[in-house]
This record gives sequence, structure tokens and C-alpha cells, in this order.
Amino acid sequence: MTEKPSQAEAEDAIRVLLRWAGEDPAREGLLDTPRRVAKAYGDWFSGYGEDPREFLQRTFKEVAGYDEMVILRDISFESHCEHHMAPIIGKAHVGYLPNGRVVGISKLARVVETYARRFQVQEKMTSQIAGCIEHVLQPLGVAVVVEAAHECMTTRGIHKRGVSMVTSKMLGTFRDDARTRMEFMQFIGMTNGK
Ligand SMILES: [Zn+2]
Repeated sequence: MTEKPSQAEAEDAIRVLLRWAGEDPAREGLLDTPRRVAKAYGDWFSGYGEDPREFLQRTFKEVAGYDEMVILRDISFESHCEHHMAPIIGKAHVGYLPNGRVVGISKLARVVETYARRFQVQEKMTSQIAGCIEHVLQPLGVAVVVEAAHECMTTRGIHKRGVSMVTSKMLGTFRDDARTRMEFMQFIGMTNGK
């Protein structure tokens, strides 16, 4: 990782992009824009300052013998593609088959959010979420499906609106056992052509 630039350097870079777009960064309406954009980057890319593995450290063992899959579906997220720095808007569905330990359900959403708040490639993000859960919780299996629209595709280039990309990563039981995988896909509503 290279050294983090100063706020002033970041704001200068945004002025350059404004000029590149054909604007005058000294125009009144744009005077505060570099500062606002730099601040927005702090939100959009806060994931670099967090370690998603930490969210999964606290687990619960008293689950009364619960050994079926746990699924959190429709976790909405906003990310940015690393190729165009354009938004990726979508949702993730995460499931795992506990191996005696479960995690607070909101923590799964935080894992998704942390990876989303970085520059991403959807395939990579899908793998990272699954890998993180597998690594920390060591469950019998992990399933992650991500559906998202890429604004680099919907607002420029071939301008295809309403197109979403679907990626999935299946580990352990979800990979090896078609019935388990099918059960997960049914829970998240992704079977029978839906
Ligand atoms: Zn892109």
C-alpha cells in the first residue's frame, strides 16, 4: 500500500477531474465540491479501515442443537467497480451451515458491507465474503450469491438498464451436495427461472 495522500492532494485530484470533464473548478457551485467528494470517499471506502474477520469473532454455542443452515438474504450494498470507479448497487445472500457455533446475524451483513466499501470486482467480492466466513467460523459450508447492477454498464458503454450480474461462491457442503445447494437457492428465491 502506498502512503495515504493528504486531504489537499485528494481535493486537487478532484479539481483535475472536474477540468477533465470540461468544468471550471473555480465556478461558485463547484468551490466546495472537492471537499465534499473527498468526504464522500471516506464513507464509500471506509471498508479499507476495517477487518471483516473481526466481526465474526464473537460466536454463540448455545443453539439447542440447531444444525440447519442459517441464511441472511437481501443484504443491500453499494460498492464501486475497480475498473471505472462507478457504483455497483446490489444485494447479497449469505448462508452457512454451522459447525456448533453461530454468529450474530447482523455480523454477516457487516462482512458484506466492509468488502463492498472498497473498490471491487463482483466476483472477487463474492469470494472474499465466502472466504472470510469459512476462515473464521469454520462452518460445514458457506454459500454466497450476489446480484448487482454495474453503473459502468448501465450509464455508459452499452447502456443496458435493468441488467444485473449474478455471482456465487459455494464452499463445503454447499459445493459438494446438490440438495443443500438447492435448498439454499430456494430460500433466496433463485430457482425456477426466478
Ligand atoms: Zn466497471
